Amino acid sequence: MDPIRIAIVGMGKIAHDQHVPAIAGNDAFRLAALVSRHDPGMDGMPTYRDLAHLIEEGPAIDAVALCTPPQVRYDLAALALERGLHVFLEKPPGATLAEVWALKAVAERTRATLFASWHSRFAAGVAGARAWLAERDVRAASIVWREDVRVWHPGQAWIWEPGGLGVFDPGINALSIATHILPRPFFLREATLVVPENRATPIAADLHFRDAGGAPIHMDLDWRQTGPQSWDILVETDAGTLKLTKGGAVLALPGDARADEDREYPGLYAHFADLIRTGRSDVDLDPLRLVADAFLCGRRETTEAFHD
Ligand code: NAP
Repeated sequence: MDPIRIAIVGMGKIAHDQHVPAIAGNDAFRLAALVSRHDPGMDGMPTYRDLAHLIEEGPAIDAVALCTPPQVRYDLAALALERGLHVFLEKPPGATLAEVWALKAVAERTRATLFASWHSRFAAGVAGARAWLAERDVRAASIVWREDVRVWHPGQAWIWEPGGLGVFDPGINALSIATHILPRPFFLREATLVVPENRATPIAADLHFRDAGGAPIHMDLDWRQTGPQSWDILVETDAGTLKLTKGGAVLALPGDARADEDREYPGLYAHFADLIRTGRSDVDLDPLRLVADAFLCGRRETTEAFHD
């Protein structure tokens, strides 16, 4: 079978750190071109200033991986899908829920694959956590996602602009895991969003959810954490406490602990190839819906200005 010829659009941190190596490591794909406003490209790799030029003038491609900020992703995805190209959306899949629904309709019409990726769902401990919890009665859950924004998002202005999500940019990764492993749906009851006086998006947030069985779920997000970082989910059940730590990479069940290698982006690309080969899309908006609800119903507090 011929490899899927794919182009990466937006050569920032995640494109370099994860997409380039994951594509290189998967025989189902061949990196055919790049689209970048600033990157000189890689040796011998055709590189275009924008996607329209690549489509009109460049080598033939079958798919694109959109690694830009979410605010500019819709137009790129719509252009690609209209041309019948398969589209891999980095997370979050868009700046609004409605635009992603609109993309889904285009993909259905043009019979292209649309993949709204959630990389944290492919972390090593997540599948085991989901399987274990499916058999348990969940009593409560706690999510703590505390990291240093200066380490993980240095100089990323878009993340502080409307649609950039602020601390929900990493927080939505936690929600992508929680919505995948918790057996019952859950919804927001109360939220406080802490916004620096010179920024449009939150630097911290405190959220209370409840699941359909009445179990409380607390979420603590903070971007001001220096020193050790926390990406932990604890779930109390009738059979003891499940601990999923290091962003989903390490799973500890009562009487048992497992850690595995980082397979998030290889897992995403294996899934994307399978979706394309079988003519399907995968667009799950649950994590983005919970974030949208926090912006819809959360109380806002202003805090001191943040400077990079
Ligand atoms: P980034 O380093 O800022 O890179 C984004 C790239 O998008 C830029 O380098 C730029 O590349 C391109 N771009 C196109 N239009 C842009 C615009 N109007 N403003 C800014 N950049 C624009 O961001 P990133 O960390 O790679 O994140 C990109 C996406 O991946 C986000 O949705 C993020 O949530 C997700 N993600 C990031 C991480 C992470 O650890 N950083 C992990 C998982 C997912 P060119 O100059 O080449 O055009």
